[in-house]
Amino acid sequence: MNSVATVDLHTHSLRSDGALTPAELIELAVQAGVCVLALTDHDTVAGLDEAQRAADRTGLRLVPGVEISAAWHFQTVHVLGLWIDPASARLRDALGRQQERRRIRMRKMCASLSKAGLPGDSLLATVEANSTLPTRTHLAAALVAAGHVGKTEDAFRKYLGAGKRAHAPADWPDLAQVVGLIREAGGIASLAHPMRYSLSSGGRRRLLADFAAAGGGALEVLTGANGVQHLHACAALAVKFGLRASVGSDFHNPQLTWNPLGRLAKLPDGIVPVWRDRNP
Ligand code: AMP
Ligand code: MN
Ligand code: MN
Ligand code: MN
Repeated sequence: MNSVATVDLHTHSLRSDGALTPAELIELAVQAGVCVLALTDHDTVAGLDEAQRAADRTGLRLVPGVEISAAWHFQTVHVLGLWIDPASARLRDALGRQQERRRIRMRKMCASLSKAGLPGDSLLATVEANSTLPTRTHLAAALVAAGHVGKTEDAFRKYLGAGKRAHAPADWPDLAQVVGLIREAGGIASLAHPMRYSLSSGGRRRLLADFAAAGGGALEVLTGANGVQHLHACAALAVKFGLRASVGSDFHNPQLTWNPLGRLAKLPDGIVPVWRDRNP
């Protein structure tokens, strides 16, 4: 067995939709006994310098990462770029375009909220004041803060979830393009939370086949606190498509106590961890 108790390759800071500064995230990770941590904010590398400076004061090894939104047919998928070079000019340009797509989409979602009788303009102003990288998490928080829904989950269920009245798709780049971008920036592409997409099992296999053919290197076989239920199915998929295994909590917020930093489950025998030759 490969012990992965101290590796967490999927986390967020407030540079995207997490609650902690990069330095606070590192501090919490050290307290949680994490030895190797990737900061993988949505569509930005803006937190990596601060995270690295904080990690330098500890024994924690920081893996520079990012979680990039991509399109595969009509499905949005998330691709982790691990060990990327955050200085890559092409990567930075592409992430700048992602951020612009997010701003356009946020305006569309707020316009739909206005049509639904909610104060879309003031919700937009709240989101824009709180983030340079607007996500649905920020909009859900604005809806909760203004008392339009009771909790975050309700915001997604009523308005922001896929297919709901204020959901707007973004014009994300193709999966293959995103994988190429990550590789060009020196990184390994890992497909995040493969069981979270609404796909049939055949659809999921086609996604993985396309991902592997595009140069994808790993599959997130363990994700979040409940991911262990899918561990063996995901491990089998990784083996079938020649992918390595990555593991990550998808940590956003210490108040969500069911999704803590750090992983406790172990990878099954025969599966190659994504960090094997990386000496993290
Ligand atoms: P976006 O990238 O702007 O589409 O926002 C997606 C983010 O929203 C995810 O990374 C999660 O952090 C969050 N999210 C998605 N669905 C839910 C949900 N049902 N409840 C709470 N947060 C969610
Ligand atoms: Mn998120
Ligand atoms: Mn994700
Ligand atoms: Mn994530």
